[in-house]
Amino acid sequence: MIKQKAILFDVTLCAGCGECYNACKEANHLPETSDDFLKDHLSANTYTVVEEYGDVYTRKMCMHCVDPTCVSVCPVGAMEKTELGPVIYDGDKCLGCRYCMQACPHHIPRYEWNKVNPTVKKCIMCYERVKNGQQTACAEACPTGATLFGDRDELIKIAKERIESDPDTYYQKIYGLEEAGGTNVLIISPVPFDQLGFAENLPKDALPTYTAKALEKIPGVVAGGGVFLAAMYWLTKRKNQIAAEEKQNKIHSISGDEK
Ligand code: SF4
Ligand code: SF4
Ligand code: SF4
Repeated sequence: MIKQKAILFDVTLCAGCGECYNACKEANHLPETSDDFLKDHLSANTYTVVEEYGDVYTRKMCMHCVDPTCVSVCPVGAMEKTELGPVIYDGDKCLGCRYCMQACPHHIPRYEWNKVNPTVKKCIMCYERVKNGQQTACAEACPTGATLFGDRDELIKIAKERIESDPDTYYQKIYGLEEAGGTNVLIISPVPFDQLGFAENLPKDALPTYTAKALEKIPGVVAGGGVFLAAMYWLTKRKNQIAAEEKQNKIHSISGDEK
């Protein structure tokens, strides 16, 4: 059986240096979005941030849920939970409907508001690197070991050992072990997680369980309406794409004529 990969983020070890932020930008070819990384926000061009809460720093990024709601609500399968753990997306399939943004319990996916054919963006746990047996760029860049990459089982063991052996330092909980069915990003901290802006009141069951239960109650005609809506989104997006391509072709042929 394939071992699920994960990230363990230890707030107590984070120096707030921003090396993870920079490495993520570089690995994903993302443009600079702020002069001060501590003031930046998640966006279509920023997949992870470092935040300052008094004298501690934390990271925010996609939590790579074990059973992700973003995947369950996507009408065209643009979001995918891979066997290795990362939750990835296919920009070519994305309709830009933003259901995943509304459904994500951690408020992660961001929209390309400035594009003609916008899609949704987020951290993909460096899937290409992970597939090739490498660690994520953010874990590789972290100078203090605050961001660790490895097998989820192993990281849970490490997290448990740390919080149990040092109860004076650690708040006695591993965030991500159970939240909304668990996540492939695990966090340990010196303070309760709501003090760091994490959702603390999530149910233990994976949220798609609730989506499925709700869908069972929806009459076929309404579900059919959802499919119709998705198809309309798809057609509108494709129409815009074709119009943009035609415009581009016209520009090329005009500039070619002039030569
Ligand atoms: S945190 Fe949100 S975007 Fe990331 S896998 Fe979970 S539901 Fe999807
Ligand atoms: S796992 Fe990769 S994509 Fe995600 S925050 Fe780290 S460097 Fe960025
Ligand atoms: S690179 Fe490591 S220590 Fe620096 S901000 Fe990121 S997680 Fe914290």
